[in-house]
Amino acid sequence: MTIARKGAATAVATIAALSLAACGGGSSDSGSGGGGDKINVGIKFDQPGLGLKEGAKYTGFDVDVATYVAKEMGKTPNFVESVSSQRETLIKTGKVDYIVATYSMNDKRKAVIDFAGPYFVAGQDVLVKSDSTIASPEQMKGKKMCSVKGSTSATTFAEKFPGVQLQQYDTYSKCAEAVSTGAIDAMTTDDTILAGYASQSQYKGKLKVLGKPFSEENYGIGMKQGNKELCTKITAAVTKMISSGEWQKAVEKNLGPAGYKTPTAPTVPSTCE
Ligand code: GLU
Repeated sequence: MTIARKGAATAVATIAALSLAACGGGSSDSGSGGGGDKINVGIKFDQPGLGLKEGAKYTGFDVDVATYVAKEMGKTPNFVESVSSQRETLIKTGKVDYIVATYSMNDKRKAVIDFAGPYFVAGQDVLVKSDSTIASPEQMKGKKMCSVKGSTSATTFAEKFPGVQLQQYDTYSKCAEAVSTGAIDAMTTDDTILAGYASQSQYKGKLKVLGKPFSEENYGIGMKQGNKELCTKITAAVTKMISSGEWQKAVEKNLGPAGYKTPTAPTVPSTCE
């Protein structure tokens, strides 16, 4: 009986999350979405090891961080898909309370939202087909490179390696698919994300990461500007996750299977920027 009720509630929450995601930054602001102890949290839905939705199941390092933070605040997360180009809008319009989605802290974003963190440091790299002759980002001149709209990956690559034919998709999973079919020569984003695709069963042995990172991506938790209380709570939660050893466990569990070496945890500043 309780289980059935719970199932129904989850289905409603999922539908709400999906319609929110479908609306993106739309103007509909009707549903406040569920009970008082729910909190709307933005994650990726298609990044294995980080933020992945399979049916009603959410897995990944960002999902674990998002859930840990929500729990510390006495809440249950209601996950909302937050593709790269929609993140600032979802935060500004209040569709999500915070976002944990491989979200690099940078000045352009800090001008419109606040970040707690960093809670993880990644590096940008390149993924190619396993039999590709491309061995370094420099060799992408004149070649087709896939990345995602609204990401630092797209702008950084175009800046650092001019002459590339950059194509920007909505999601990284679409890029990975295009690389595997040969429609695109390579894709670029954080090494964490690339490792996740390369180890996915459908791509195993077919895709490889070059292993030559050329940036530092400081992942932060994005929220509305000026919410000091929320910032303090999120920062305290992340700090506790790291000091308690839960952070390391979450990294090993989610990124370890893809062969990603556990980095040292960053020091989390107590203020948000
Ligand atoms: N970390 C980079 C960014 O925030 C790339 C990954 C992503 O798009 O989520 O833009």
